[in-house]
Amino acid sequence: MADPLICKNYIDGHWVDSASGRTFEDANPADRHEIVGVFQDSNTEDVERAVRAALSASDSWRLTPAPRRGEILYRAGQLLAARKEDLAREMTREMGKVLAEAQGDVQEAVDMTFYMAGEGRRQFGQTTPSELPDKFCMTQRAPLGVCALITPWNFPMAIPAWKAMPALICGNTVVMKPSPEAPRSAYNLVRVLEEAGIPAGVVNFVTGRGPGTGVALVNHGDVHAVSFTGSTATGREVAKSCAGAFKRLTLEMGGKNAILVMEDADLNLAVEGAVWGGFGTAGQRCTAASRLVVHKEVYGAFAAKFVERTRALKVGSGLDPGVEVGPLINERQLRKVEQYVAVGKDEGARLLCGGCPLSCGDYDRGWFFAPTIFGDVHPEMRIAQEEIFGPVVALIPCQSLDEAIAIGNSVSYGLSSAIYTRDVNKAFRAIRDIESGIFYVNASTIGAETHLPFGGVKQTGNGHREAALAALDFYSEWKSIYIDFSGKLQKAQMDT
Ligand code: NAD
Repeated sequence: MADPLICKNYIDGHWVDSASGRTFEDANPADRHEIVGVFQDSNTEDVERAVRAALSASDSWRLTPAPRRGEILYRAGQLLAARKEDLAREMTREMGKVLAEAQGDVQEAVDMTFYMAGEGRRQFGQTTPSELPDKFCMTQRAPLGVCALITPWNFPMAIPAWKAMPALICGNTVVMKPSPEAPRSAYNLVRVLEEAGIPAGVVNFVTGRGPGTGVALVNHGDVHAVSFTGSTATGREVAKSCAGAFKRLTLEMGGKNAILVMEDADLNLAVEGAVWGGFGTAGQRCTAASRLVVHKEVYGAFAAKFVERTRALKVGSGLDPGVEVGPLINERQLRKVEQYVAVGKDEGARLLCGGCPLSCGDYDRGWFFAPTIFGDVHPEMRIAQEEIFGPVVALIPCQSLDEAIAIGNSVSYGLSSAIYTRDVNKAFRAIRDIESGIFYVNASTIGAETHLPFGGVKQTGNGHREAALAALDFYSEWKSIYIDFSGKLQKAQMDT
């Protein structure tokens, strides 16, 4: 096997070793003996250098016309699109999702890059009449400064791109810190941005662990804004760190998403949506459909079809054709899923399929877990309340739409939800009453598009949204401008 690629930090336009002198390995979760890259285990000194570089580049980037910034992003989008296949293969090797999903992840980065490149020629403000004569009013967006972008491993290129592109088009400079579980895709993204002509210091990249590198970055006094995606527990720590300095902060955190299946649903369609929502990316998506709330009239028929379809899923390396479910990210996650299965059994839920790691033959090399369904789950059980982040789905019976909505809302998260029904009245009531940032009718809980706001309510988020125009609102400040051409002192409210 060839030596793994040594990947350095990118600071002020140079690829550099960590001041710590230490590195860590990024292993393939489908074959833990394969190392896909060796990365810098960065310390506070690396973070200091990266933030200093970002701060120095801030003024020239802020003063670069936004359409010129957009041209660099457009070139980056072209490069990403041209290399999609190779980038996707590297992604599957580093974090396990099946190749078609990895291609989708790269495509999300392409879409966001082109979308934000276009915003270079928009970023419209408002012009509005003044309450006084001979006075002109308008608004403009102003960048924030240095943005820290802290990302998880499950969308290792899409999420860094979802943060970096709107930050850059608004005129901010960035320091990116990807998850140590999957830094290779973010590394590839930075290489593309470099090749596209991003000036030195505008994009900086440091790899390392959360408690060292992440904490140092969040706490740095010259970081003006933090964009974090990860678990709710980590998000809470990040929020505490940002609170003291009133740093602008966006948090995209955990989920416990529900699909409601009504008695009039197209059951075959609902089963396909449930399989895709529950077991896509081996359930390791913030938008995974880990709860299925099913009307009692169709519960038996739905459960039978769902179990049959799930048992037939092919689990394996995401690079093998025909595989539908890849591995879990690491052994820790495998053990966590195993523990939740034990919790579900103890709570009295009925195990309908799966429930154990897969370890025979080729499975022995990776972190594979059988797609698992629990039936007769009570909404209060821990397996129906807590984010497991693995291929475990809870089937919860319900008596009515009202009860389905109440169960849907009974968790502390609120990212994505869905309903399967042929009744437009039921669909609209669910759209109105479900507490989630994203809602689907007759589609699964996953499938976000880059030009719509993305994010959740309750303990999934803190009120901001990623993607779409909403992202510009996070990465810029509104400046209100009054131009008085009356030639005399006008005192606004006192003069009217
Ligand atoms: P995680 O919270 O363990 O880590 C996320 C990032 O934070 C990593 O880069 C990590 O190194 C860093 N980090 C850890 N501790 C830190 C600290 N104290 N200060 C600063 N940075 C720190 O999450 P993960 O396991 O990588 O990702 C899975 C989680 O992410 C799940 O809960 C999932 O729901 C969530 N997620 C949410 C969304 C969303 O948009 N809502 C999208 C994807 C994933």
